[in-house]
Amino acid sequence: MRKKIVAGNWKMNNDIVQSKALIEGILSKKPETTATKIVIAPGFVNLQAAVEQTRDTGIIVAAQNMHQAESGAFTGEVSVGMLKGINVNTVILGHSERRQYFGETNSILAEKVNTALKHNLTVIFCFGEELAERQSAKHFDVVETQLREALFHLSESDWSNIVLAYEPVWAIGTGETATPEQAQEMHAFVRALLRNNVGETIAGQTSILYGGSVKADNAREIFGKPDVDGGLIGGASLKADDFLAIVNAME
Ligand code: PEP
Repeated sequence: MRKKIVAGNWKMNNDIVQSKALIEGILSKKPETTATKIVIAPGFVNLQAAVEQTRDTGIIVAAQNMHQAESGAFTGEVSVGMLKGINVNTVILGHSERRQYFGETNSILAEKVNTALKHNLTVIFCFGEELAERQSAKHFDVVETQLREALFHLSESDWSNIVLAYEPVWAIGTGETATPEQAQEMHAFVRALLRNNVGETIAGQTSILYGGSVKADNAREIFGKPDVDGGLIGGASLKADDFLAIVNAME
């Protein structure tokens, strides 16, 4: 059975007061038990407080990035050991904003993935095509290259710590969502890629999330598609009610 996951990527939003208030809002209204794993990804400096605030609640706290080196002269960066030291065991890697603004390539991402997995972190790995690539019908090739270059060297056991997140760049923060059919088509393509390149078991077990302007009013239809196992949510994860409505749409 694949895990159902709804993850909130807070990006560079929320100071410590806002972060605590948002978590409080989520905790006070979240369903007592849920089949869906809830993940939140606050900014680095708020991670430790978030881990403490969510202890024993079932909510998973993730980092939005980490450096590929284990330590060293990389001013301003955060290492895997720093995350593990505060009990952050999940990291988002490959977000399109990291690729676009911070020059993260598939090969850098392969290194980041290796470092994260070496230390038993779970990786939420983002990938997706830009608008021009979809318009020129290159989206399947682009996605295949992103996955091949960053992930297809992994062993079968590594894959149990990988969650995939398909995020078409043209749908992130734009209000424009992929149609449920477009999401399903790409998720099915990715699952077939996994089947052919990694194996049937991994293809059947790997959760593939959709991200890109998911809101309470479109989540149910997208999540209803057979190869969509949840969502990575940006803007709509910044309000507890909106985020929880999306979690409920997964149930
Ligand atoms: C994201 O940044 O991962 C994302 C999906 O953002 P939004 O939901 O705001 O499009």
